[in-house]
Formats: sequence, structure tokens, C-alpha cells
Amino acid sequence: MKVPVAVVTMVLVDLTLVADPAAAGHRVLDVGHPAALALAFFERAQMDGGEALVRRLRPAPLSPELKAAVVASLPSEGELQATDAERAKIATLDAVFEIYDRKNAIAIKVIDVGHAFVGLHARTVLLLSRDALSLVDADELQALAAHELAHELFWDEYQAARAERAAGRIQELELRCDGVALSALRGRGHGADTLTRAVSKMTRYNERLGATATAGAYVSLKERTRFIKDVTALFDGKGHVALSGYAPEEAPSR
Ligand SMILES: [Zn+2]
Repeated sequence: MKVPVAVVTMVLVDLTLVADPAAAGHRVLDVGHPAALALAFFERAQMDGGEALVRRLRPAPLSPELKAAVVASLPSEGELQATDAERAKIATLDAVFEIYDRKNAIAIKVIDVGHAFVGLHARTVLLLSRDALSLVDADELQALAAHELAHELFWDEYQAARAERAAGRIQELELRCDGVALSALRGRGHGADTLTRAVSKMTRYNERLGATATAGAYVSLKERTRFIKDVTALFDGKGHVALSGYAPEEAPSR
């Protein structure tokens, strides 16, 4: 197919403008950084980071039949009986489930895995390790649950990234879950601090134990903390300032 030269040139110029952050008025030095990509996702979504964002992105819940099948398929090994104190903390998660429209749609299991772990299994079971439950307070647990429930919003993308071992993409999706969690929590009076505290506690605790098998799924704690602050600024309408921070160690001179 023949394309007029002028058209090709124009397309190239357009691409250059889009790809050149300086031309777009940002001071981005590393646009390929997972944090920059995740921020761009929320900027594109043009949402103010409220519960509306969660409502817009959340998929329909799995059927009760499928949920029952998943729960039945879990091994009972490592499963613990929740203590009264754990039960009280877990009960505070109802508010988070409500935001995601997952009340009674997600089962909760307390498990022992020897480190602090919170995870969503098969979109159906929220797994909470005893270490995690004793490590974080109720507010922080809500923040972690909000992150886990956010995974449902990007479930297929995440599975694909794992299959391709696309580390940067996985890190980006983890950060997107942080952003959605913040959106879910904002209406409940929790800000960036609660989520930052929760992920910091979990990360440091597991580092001390040497339980860092999944650490590669996340950017460094420092970058994650920075992202949480930046995406909050974006939701507050101060976004463009935020995009300046993800520079490579040695920025190319330009
Ligand atoms: Zn996650």
C-alpha cells in the first residue's frame, strides 16, 4: 500500500510529540518506569480517585457455584481457626467489601505460611496469614484488603504478565492496585498514610525473615511509597508535578 509521504511525516511528528514528555509539559525522564505507567493509567482514567473509580472498573462477581468450588478445592493444610481478636479485625473489612460490591462474595481464610501474607486466591478467597493479622492494625488491614480486591480489576492482565514473566508489567499492575485501593479508602477517611504504613510493615517484616520470594513483583519500597504519594496528588488534581520523579539513576543529557 502506498502512503503519501506527507501523511507519514505527520504521523511521525505526532508520535514524537506524544512520546516526548518534555514536549507534553512534563519533566518525566523515565516514561517506561512501572510507576510512571501506572500513574499514566490513572491520569487517562480521568478520575478523582473516589469510589466511582472502583465502581467503574470492578467486574461482575463470580457465581456462588464457582466460589463454592474454589473454596472446596483449597487444601485445609495450614488453615487456622481465627481467634476472637482476629475475627474482630476481619469484621472491619466488611466496609471494604461493600465498596467493591463483594460482600459475601469473597471467603476469608486465616492461614499460617511463616511470614506476613495477604492475597486474593482465584478472585474468591482472601487469604490472611496470622503474621499479617498480628502485624497490622484494623485500618492497615483494610488498606491491604483494598489492594487485594483491586487485583480482580486487572485479573486477566496480571495472569498474562505472569505467564510472560513480564516483571515490569507485574510491578505496574501492583501499583495500579495501590491506586485503586487508595480510591476505595479515600471515602472512608483513609489516605496514603494508611496504605504506606501497611505495605512498609509487611515488606520490612518479611525482609527480616528473609521471606522475599515475591519481592520482585513490586518496585522498591521507596518507589512504592513515592508512587502512593504521587497518585494521591494526581487524585487531588496536582498530577503533573507528580510525574517528575521516576528518573533513571543517570539521566541522559538532552
Ligand atoms: Zn498485589
